[in-house]
Amino acid sequence: MNRFLVEVRNLSKDYNGHKAVDDISFFIKEGEVFALLGPNGAGKTTTLECLEGLIKPTKGEILIDNKSVSNNLNHIRKVMGVQLQSSALPKDMKVSEAIKLFTGYHNVGLPHNILERFKLTEHMNKCYGSLSVGQQRKVVLAIAIAHKPKLLILDEPTAGLDVVTRIELHKIIEELKKENTTILLASHDMAEVEKLSDRIGVLVNGKLVKVGSPLEISASMNKGNKIMIKLNEEDIGIKDICCESIKYSGQIEEYHVFYSTDINNMLFTLVNHLKESNNIITDLKVDRPSLEDTFIKLTEQEV
Ligand code: ATP
Repeated sequence: MNRFLVEVRNLSKDYNGHKAVDDISFFIKEGEVFALLGPNGAGKTTTLECLEGLIKPTKGEILIDNKSVSNNLNHIRKVMGVQLQSSALPKDMKVSEAIKLFTGYHNVGLPHNILERFKLTEHMNKCYGSLSVGQQRKVVLAIAIAHKPKLLILDEPTAGLDVVTRIELHKIIEELKKENTTILLASHDMAEVEKLSDRIGVLVNGKLVKVGSPLEISASMNKGNKIMIKLNEEDIGIKDICCESIKYSGQIEEYHVFYSTDINNMLFTLVNHLKESNNIITDLKVDRPSLEDTFIKLTEQEV
């Protein structure tokens, strides 16, 4: 099993008595993409800022690469890449100057392969402020990964980008994952999180209310996949396939409706039953609960 690169234990951050982050613990394995998902004000950025060493937690412990963030900031900065806010760079600074400034800090050369990969080579002599939002986002991402960090932290990496640039950035994030970069991202974009992440931590009102893979989170909050079956002939015995993982919920028009937490067992049992009863399926619909539905349920529960 991969070791944990990030260990967060009982982290809290209070602002004037308001608990922005309230006693959360989570662990991220090396090579994993972990997303903090939560509505506005849930505490995502505050959590990231504690991990980055930018703000001091009120309570708790954060270890990155086996070292405590609070007293090993120099080591942490070597192993961590943080995507700056696009507004953090001066508008009149040339792209080449901005990149040299940060790569110089880490004592690494100009990352030509990264510049080509991000199609930034042609923009090196332009002022940062003259670039489009998507190009600026690529510059700050190039700066974050130039020193090949083990851990990359991204806060809303694609917010405000058009679909094409979003997909381009998703590809880059997927490539970084293949290269075994551990990635922690904060987002409220459900589709992005579902596509990119191995595991998700759902933050609501500063509390971590669920941690798991997108599938695990959906399954834990729902009755399972909804399966609707239309049969060639009437079959009152169809309900008998029910067991621990298969529930019958009645008929909607000509469809028998089941909920199953084990799709493999559901199909196997169904096919066996139909063989015995000499019946056939004329239509089948499967409806998996979306992460969005689950997220709404989770946030409603916590309000
Ligand atoms: P968003 O998705 O809107 O960016 P978020 O999940 O990143 O939200 P945070 O920015 O971490 O949420 O904020 C969590 C809570 O802490 C909010 O109620 C916010 O108002 C409060 N907060 C954040 N920073 C400060 C600060 N510097 N001083 C006082 N309160 C703060």
